[in-house]
Amino acid sequence: MTERALPPHLHLDTLAVRTAVDKSQYGENSEALYLSSSFVQPDSETAARRFAGEEDGYIYSRFTNPTVASMEMRLAALEGSEACLGTASGMAAVLLLCMALLKSGDHVVCSHSVFGSTHKLLSTEFAKFGVQTTFVSQTDLTEWAKAIQPNTRLLFAETPTNPLTEVCDIAALSQIARKAGAVLAVDNCFCTPALQTPIALGADVVVHSGTKYLDGQGRVVAGALCASKEMVKDKFIPVMRSAGMSLSPFNAWVVLKGLETLSLRMKAQSAQALELAQWLEDHPKVAKVYFPGLPSHPQHALAMAQQSGVGGPVLAFDVVGDSVAHSRANAFTVIDSTQLMSITANLGDVKTIITHPGSTSHGRLSEANRQLAGIQQSLVRIAVGLEHLDDLKADLSRGLDLISATS
Ligand SMILES: *Cc1c(COP(=O)(O)O)cnc(C)c1O
Repeated sequence: MTERALPPHLHLDTLAVRTAVDKSQYGENSEALYLSSSFVQPDSETAARRFAGEEDGYIYSRFTNPTVASMEMRLAALEGSEACLGTASGMAAVLLLCMALLKSGDHVVCSHSVFGSTHKLLSTEFAKFGVQTTFVSQTDLTEWAKAIQPNTRLLFAETPTNPLTEVCDIAALSQIARKAGAVLAVDNCFCTPALQTPIALGADVVVHSGTKYLDGQGRVVAGALCASKEMVKDKFIPVMRSAGMSLSPFNAWVVLKGLETLSLRMKAQSAQALELAQWLEDHPKVAKVYFPGLPSHPQHALAMAQQSGVGGPVLAFDVVGDSVAHSRANAFTVIDSTQLMSITANLGDVKTIITHPGSTSHGRLSEANRQLAGIQQSLVRIAVGLEHLDDLKADLSRGLDLISATS
C-alpha cells in the first residue's frame, strides 16, 4: 500500500505523531512492529544489488529494519537532521560515533561534566587505542578554544549536565569546532528536540540515549545518532554493519510510540520542575537549588534562549548541614522519607526519580574529584515526573521537615 505523502512545513508535534515508513498492505494505523531478523529477497539479482547498496531494500536487522527505520525517520524529523541511526543504547551511540570519526593519534575535546560513562569511554577505552581527550570546563569557552590541537577531530558536549544542570553555549562551540575543522557532537538527552535542537544551533551530530525522555516511561534501553545523510551513510552505517551495536526492533517500536507524546511530556514535566525548583529555593532546609529555569542559575539567560524558554525536567538541590557527614545524613533522610518517588538510577520517566549522586552515579569518583565536579554529599537530584505537584511537595516535605541545619 502506498503511503499518502505528508504535507510540507509540519510542526514538531505533528511530525512526532505522523513520521514513519510506509504502512504495510494491511493499512495499520499504529506503526507495525517488524520482529524479523532478516528479510526475504525476491531473487538473486535483487539480493546482489541490495547487498552492494545499489538498490534500497531491507536485508538484515543488524543494519536495516523497517521499525527501526520509522523511529530513525521520526527522530530525524524532530531534530531537524537529514538522517538518524538507532543504536542499542545511548552509550552504543557514543561508541559508534567515536569508532566512526576517530583513529589512533586523533584528539578530542570534551566537557568534564558529561555523563560518567561517556567520560570513561573516552578517558579509558579510547585512550587505549591512542585517542587522547582533553577534558575542559562545561561553561568556559576559552578553555575549549585553548584545548584545540591540530589533530582535534571531535568536540563533545552535553547540555544541561547531570546532576548540576550546567549549560554550555552550543552555537559558540560550533564556531570553535568549525574553525578547528572538527565535528561538534551534542548529547541532547536532557532537553530532547522538544526543547532544544542542536543541529539548528550549528552542531554536526546529536547523540541520544533513547532510554530517557524519548521512551519516556522507563521501559527500554535505546540510543541514536542524528546527523547529515552523508555522515550517517558513509561513516556510521559501515561501523554499525561491522560492529553491530544495533537497536532491537521491539525497543525501537517502544521509542517510536514514546516520541508521539514527547512534546507534551517535556512541557508538562518541565513546568512541574520549575514550580518545584521555586518551592525548594524558598525552603529553609534547602541550601541551594540547581535549575536552569531559575534566575539564580549562572547560565539562566543562555538556557532560556537555547532551550525554548524552559528549564527542563531535571533539578538538583543541596540540603542544609554543618559537615560532610551531617549533610549526607540529611540528604539520605530526605530521600528515604519519600513514599512516592523512585530511588533508582534512571531519569526521563513519568515517575519522579530521586537520587543521591554523591554515593551513586558519582560514587566511584575520589572525594577530591567529586568536589572538583561540584557534587557535594548534600546534593539530591530529582527528575520530575507527572505525579500531581502537591503530592511531590508533600513527599519531599516528609524528610525536609525532619532535618536541621546543625547537628
Ligand atoms: C543515560 C545517559 C547516557 C547513556 O545512555 P544509555 O541508554 O544508558 O546507554 C548518555 N548520556 C546521558 C546524558 C545520559 O543521561
